Amino acid sequence: MLFCGYCERRTQGNWNNRQAYYRCRFPAQYAIVNDLDHPKVVYLRESEILDEVDGRLGTAFGPERLEHTIAAMAEQAIDPKEAALIDLRKRLSKCDRKLSQYRSALDERVAGERFPVIVDRAV
Ligand SMILES: [Zn+2]
Repeated sequence: MLFCGYCERRTQGNWNNRQAYYRCRFPAQYAIVNDLDHPKVVYLRESEILDEVDGRLGTAFGPERLEHTIAAMAEQAIDPKEAALIDLRKRLSKCDRKLSQYRSALDERVAGERFPVIVDRAV
């Protein structure tokens, strides 16, 4: 997983001419709003960083650092029950946002002559 050095968002994997790339697209209007000097698209060819990544992995999982690396990974692991709870909260939040959008859309209609009754029963 790679993050963009300009905006710190996660990059997207992309294939071009049979080579793997990491890409970050950042619309100009977002860059202006967030006061970022971000190119429209940032590309990084994976082959340019493989040696560096291999070296770091070799060090992290080498005999001198292995125990520390495993402990660090275990600290960051999420309990499956906690992960399920996080997922449920995200789904609930998404439903709440949709309900809010639907209510707003209905409120914008002509004071909702027919629809509010249906919505009140659904909620
Ligand atoms: Zn970016």
